[in-house]
Amino acid sequence: KLYNQVQDLKGNIRVYCRVRPLVPGHSNTSVDHIDERTISILTHSKYGKEAKKSFTFNKIFGPSVTQAEVFSDTQPLIRSVLDGYNVCIFAYGQTGSGKTHTMTGPKELTEEGLGVNYRALADLFHLSKERKETISYEISVQMLEIYNEQVKDLLSADEIRNSSQNGINVPDANLVRVSSPSDVINLMDLGHKNRSVCSTALNDRSSRSHSCLTVHVQGKDLTSGNILRGSMHLVDLAGSERVDKSEVTGDRLKEAQHINKSLSALGDVISSLASRSSHVPYRNSKLTQLLQDSLGGQAKTLMFVHIAPEYEALGETLSTLKFAERVA
Ligand code: ADP
Ligand code: MG
Repeated sequence: KLYNQVQDLKGNIRVYCRVRPLVPGHSNTSVDHIDERTISILTHSKYGKEAKKSFTFNKIFGPSVTQAEVFSDTQPLIRSVLDGYNVCIFAYGQTGSGKTHTMTGPKELTEEGLGVNYRALADLFHLSKERKETISYEISVQMLEIYNEQVKDLLSADEIRNSSQNGINVPDANLVRVSSPSDVINLMDLGHKNRSVCSTALNDRSSRSHSCLTVHVQGKDLTSGNILRGSMHLVDLAGSERVDKSEVTGDRLKEAQHINKSLSALGDVISSLASRSSHVPYRNSKLTQLLQDSLGGQAKTLMFVHIAPEYEALGETLSTLKFAERVA
C-alpha cells in the first residue's frame, strides 16, 4: 500500500539504465563508476582536462548483471497486467547498445539468455495458472513493426492500412491466442522471419524500425463474472544514433528523419506525462498514437536505456543519458 502511494507520488514512469560489457579488444571506456542508482561518465573538456558527469535513475544495471536479475526487477510491473493495468516497456539506445539483448536475448538463445519478452510471457502463464480457481485468463499477442511511420503486422504478410490505427486497437492486425511459452516462441520466430524479409545484408532494417510485441490479457472473475482487461507493450525501439546529414541521402535520410521524429515524440509524451502537463502530444508520431491508450492515466511505463561503454560512443552515450534524464 505504502509502496503504491510512493509510486503514485512520482508517477508511473520508471527508468532503468543498462550498460553492456565492453566489446572484446576495447579497453577505453567512458563509464567511470556505477552504483545502484547513479552512473558517472568520463567526459573530457575541450582542453583535455578530465571531467565527470553523473546521472541518476531508478536503477542501474552494470555489465555483469544477468538477464534473470534484470527480469526480477521488472517482474512486479509485468504481473500488474493480470490485475488489469496497461504496461509499456521500451528499450532505447544506439544500435549495438543491447536493446534486443534485453528484450529478446542474444542471437544464440539459451535458457539463461532469454530476454524480458519470453520471461514476461512465461511468468504471465505461470501466474494465471496459479489463480485459475478464481479467475480465468485469456492471453493473446500481436507483433507490429513501425518503419518510416508505416505499421506492419509481423504475424501476417500484409501491410496494415493507415486508416485503421486508433489507440492500441489495430483491428486488422492478427491477434493470436497463446497458452504456453512454446506458442510464444513460435510466434516470435515467425515475427522475426517476417521482419527479416524486409532486410538485406547491407540494410539491417531491424535497427531502423520499432518492433512491438503486444500482450492482451482478459480475466474473468469466476465468482462475480466481472471482466478485467490489461495489456502490455514490449517495444524494441529503432537505434537512437544521430546520422550525419552531410553523409546520408535519399532513403537513409528519410529513415533517419522518421526515427528522429518518432523518438523525440516519444520523449515529449513521456516527459509531459512525468511533469503532469495538461497537454500530452500523442499525435506527433505513429508510435505514440499506437500506444496512446497505454501511456498515461493508470498505465505504467518502464524505459530501459542502453549504454555502449566504449569511449568512442561517448557522444551517443551522453545523448542517450540526456534523453533518459528528460523522461525520468
Ligand atoms: P541493439 O539491439 O541495441 O542494436 P544488441 O542487443 O544486438 O544491440 O547487442 C549488440 C551485441 O552485444 C550483441 O551481440 C549482444 O548479444 C551483445 N550484448 C548486448 N548486451 C549484452 C549484455 N548485457 N551482456 C552480454 N552481451 C550483450
Ligand atoms: Mg536490435
